[in-house]
Parts: sequence; structure tokens; C-alpha cells
Amino acid sequence: MAAPYQPERDVEQKIAMTHSQVLSSNIASLRAHIAQCAADARRNPAEITLLAVSKTRNTDEVADAVANGLTNIGENYLQEAREKQQALSHLNICWHFIGPIQSNKTREIAEHFSWVHSVDRLKIARRLSDQRPTSLPPLNICLQVNISEEATKSGVLPSNALDLARGVAALPGLTLRGLMAIPAASTDLAEQRQAFAQLRQLRDQIASALPELTLDTLSMGMSGDIDAAILEGSTLLRVGTAIFGPRTSATKN
Ligand SMILES: *Cc1c(COP(=O)(O)O)cnc(C)c1O
Repeated sequence: MAAPYQPERDVEQKIAMTHSQVLSSNIASLRAHIAQCAADARRNPAEITLLAVSKTRNTDEVADAVANGLTNIGENYLQEAREKQQALSHLNICWHFIGPIQSNKTREIAEHFSWVHSVDRLKIARRLSDQRPTSLPPLNICLQVNISEEATKSGVLPSNALDLARGVAALPGLTLRGLMAIPAASTDLAEQRQAFAQLRQLRDQIASALPELTLDTLSMGMSGDIDAAILEGSTLLRVGTAIFGPRTSATKN
């Protein structure tokens, strides 16, 4: 016979969980959820990478994520990222830059990251290519697309994406891998799916116009729209809140 349910003891156990235990439990739930969504979409979950977005999180939290097998880490702000990279240099981490890029930051980004998801103009791409150390493999690039065409959002407009892709593909220090987007916020699954479907179709158009490229990456889906992103073909989910919990420090994103 099952033991009687003891709500008070359960609450005490929850409170007694350490921050690391909460993180492990969040990651396990998230992985199960991703596997379920992939099954619903008839997709192989192995083709979906989970990128842990660690802006505002401290180095212990990032180390915990890595200990749980999340070795792809995404950061938005260079200074904050460099501090964590230095503190965690003993760990095997693949670092992704996902924030807005100022020209005067490109050298450090080119030197210290494996991926950049937020390239939206050729000038920045040229600098990243020129400044990528030749001792390192080319920098993996996703073009950030302003898929919902919002006036205030960064990202190349869909109508300009093919031209930018052509320019980026020609740069020796970079490997163009695909597209990234942050669609207009919506809690409606159909609306979320429509934006992600547009990004996938744009990727397919660019791939057929530039068949020499391997555009294997759709960087789409965050904590609030994981299901829609997987249904529409995401290969890389950028997830913060569902892993680490709500962000408490003041931040724009
Ligand atoms: C913060 C951020 C995320 C993660 O957002 P959550 O809602 O916390 O999962 C993903 N992508 C980008 C570009 C971000 O800035």
C-alpha cells in the first residue's frame, strides 16, 4: 500500500532542497518536456540542443548547469560573460554570445566565444571575421532576424536576410550556421508557431538560394515558447528562466 500523502513533510522537503537540487530538478523536468514535445512533433530529440542562458546568474549556478550536462552556455553581456569564463576556465564549456553587439566589443567576442547568434549587419560580421584568431576554428554564426518586423527590435528584416547571408558566407573567419529570432511576445500557441514557421521558411529559402551552405541551425524558442519552437523545427532552444528560475536582478531582457 502506498504511504499516506503527507503535505507538510513534502513542503519541508521542498524548502530543504538546495539551490543545486532545484536546478537539477528543473533541468530534468525540462529535458522530459523537450522529449515529449519532440515526440509530438515526430522529431528526434537528439537534434535539439539546449542552450542554458545564464545572464544575471552567478558562476556557481553556471557550474551547476554544466554539472547537469548543459555544456552550451549563452550570455548577453560581454563583461559579465568574461568574468564567468575566467572563473570557469577549468570546465569544458561551449560559449554562445546572444546579446546585442557593439563594434568596439567584436574583438573580445571573436576571441572568446564559439558561437554568435545576434549578427544582424555586415559591418559587425566583417569585424568578427577579421578578428577571429586563426588558431581557432571559424566562429559559428546565426543571423538574428526581426521576424515579427517590430520597429524597436534588433535583427535584419526578413527581406534583407538573403543579402546578409551571402555577405556573411563569404567571410573566411565565420561559418554561417543558420538563423535566430526572438518573435513578438505572445502566449498563443498558434501565433508563436506562425512566427517560428516564418523563420524556418526563410532559412529554407536562403538554403535553396545558397546550396553550398549547410544551414543546420534554427536558434528559436525560449522558456515561454518552447513547444511552438520544437513543433516548427527548432534545433537550438535558448532557455534561462525554465532552468535557473525567475531573474531577480534588473535586466532588460
Ligand atoms: C534572456 C534570453 C533568453 C532566455 O529567456 P528565458 O525567457 O529566460 O528563457 C533567450 N534568448 C535571448 C536572446 C535572451 O536574451
